Amino acid sequence: MNKPTGFLEHSRQEPDKLEVSKRVKNYHEFVQKYNPKILNEQAARCMNCGVPFCHSGCPLGNVIPEFNEAVYNEEWQKAYQILIATNNFPEFTGRICPAPCEHACVLGINQPPVTIEEIEKHIIEVAFENNFVQPKFSTVKTGFKIAVVGSGPAGLAVADQLSSVGHVVTVFERHEQPGGLLRFGIPDFKLEKTVVERRIKLMEKAGVIFKCNTEVGMDYSIEQLIDDFDAIILAGGSTVPRNLNVEGRHLKGVHFAMDFLSQQNKRMSGVPIKDIPILATYKNVVVIGGGDTGSDCIGTSNRQGAKSVTQFELLPMPPKQRTATMPWPQYAPLLKTTSSHEEGVERIFSIQTKAFMGDVNQNLVGIQTVQIEWIKDEHGKMIPKEIPNTEKTYPCELALLAMGFLHPQYHGLLENLAIDRDLSGNVNAHPKTFKTNKEKFFCCGDMRRGQSLVVWAISEGRECALKVDEFLQGTSSLSSKDGY
Ligand SMILES: Cc1cc2nc3c(=O)[nH]c(=O)nc-3n(C[C@H](O)[C@H](O)[C@H](O)COP(=O)(O)OP(=O)(O)OC[C@H]3O[C@@H](n4cnc5c(N)ncnc54)[C@H](O)[C@@H]3O)c2cc1C
Ligand code: SF4
Repeated sequence: MNKPTGFLEHSRQEPDKLEVSKRVKNYHEFVQKYNPKILNEQAARCMNCGVPFCHSGCPLGNVIPEFNEAVYNEEWQKAYQILIATNNFPEFTGRICPAPCEHACVLGINQPPVTIEEIEKHIIEVAFENNFVQPKFSTVKTGFKIAVVGSGPAGLAVADQLSSVGHVVTVFERHEQPGGLLRFGIPDFKLEKTVVERRIKLMEKAGVIFKCNTEVGMDYSIEQLIDDFDAIILAGGSTVPRNLNVEGRHLKGVHFAMDFLSQQNKRMSGVPIKDIPILATYKNVVVIGGGDTGSDCIGTSNRQGAKSVTQFELLPMPPKQRTATMPWPQYAPLLKTTSSHEEGVERIFSIQTKAFMGDVNQNLVGIQTVQIEWIKDEHGKMIPKEIPNTEKTYPCELALLAMGFLHPQYHGLLENLAIDRDLSGNVNAHPKTFKTNKEKFFCCGDMRRGQSLVVWAISEGRECALKVDEFLQGTSSLSSKDGY
């Protein structure tokens, strides 16, 4: 086991980050690696609990105490094997996962939890450095052909799993390069695209075929898809953004966050930008929405040289510590200060946008707001109430709407397929079998569960692959979270 007194001797230590003034000059990752001594100490903090709550906190069911122990003992090959038994892409989750496992860690009862996510990242990077990571060739060929629509983490996980058991898998992607939001959503400073490309190359070597610039349902017909493949998995993500229909929405300078972020990803990768460039340079930027996407807009705006960056959030400021309503080991929605927040932003909570204001040329020049409080209505539902005399106008030349995503795109594939949708507007596929109402069509990831996380997309991709394999072969050798 790990050092029995490790958690008493060592405190949690976050990895160093490049200082703000240096890192905002470029889009590179800036979180530094631990030195071997610190890594060993951090792994030593794991108590190897009899009931490891961390394990159940992870949507993938990562076998955390075992890989912590292997890291502590410097058994890197073993640590790598334990990690990839449940996670196809630890290099993604090790960088950008909000780490629900750490919220569930037993140490978290009265101490900061084990740095599980960082340890995961170190294992996979050591594995790459030592060439442990190899293409997953299959010795059997089943003769079945499978199409995956969408190359985000869900599509990549399903393809990786199904290819590893001998099926021929083709992944369709409408964008120029594969990766979904990992590629054209999440900024390079959180996840450098060489990390995504490294994985895609391995999958290609193993035989996965990627067909980019191909929108299924538009450039590739559904009839052809049904003729060409034995099973089809829809993994197209949740891509329709929530709008803010207030006065002045039409003004030049009001944009959806994803239009802004994907342009910067494309600039970094040398992919031509077909639309009018959206840039924060010399502008007062207001990001409307307090989540991950909003935070990514802040980091990108600061790197582009914004004059000021302000973030609006409709909800009140979350607590900094767990409260009685969020006991351990539940995920605690605490106030999150991301690395992008550290780089410079004014955060305003309980604020509502009333109108966008423009000049004679229809350019955005300001935003009218009001402060709100949250009260209960007669049914006990929390509703916003404006606080009198709190109206304010913020100067703003670029407003970025980062208020989440509603559901997948219907136009094209889903509309033509007449697929069943659930009450939220997502594809109605069974949460255990991933089957849709259409014969041989399955669905997983954000397209099924709604806007979520990379770790959930990988988890759904793995579980869906198992069901597709069983559908084709009657049985499957693929592992499942429940059966590991
Ligand atoms: C800006 C931003 C930042 C985020 N940051 C984080 C984070 O830090 N940590 C985290 O865990 N999660 C984060 N998320 C959420 C996470 O990225 C998603 O939950 C995850 O990518 C969903 O994976 P997916 O494979 O289901 O879909 P996606 O990643 O959305 O991929 C779907 C792909 O399908 C393609 N597609 C759709 N329809 C078709 C079609 N008809 N034909 C061909 N291709 C098609 C799309 O172009 C897209 O590339 C973030 C999301 C955003 C928007
Ligand atoms: S809950 Fe925390 S301390 Fe316990 S095994 Fe998991 S990582 Fe280690």
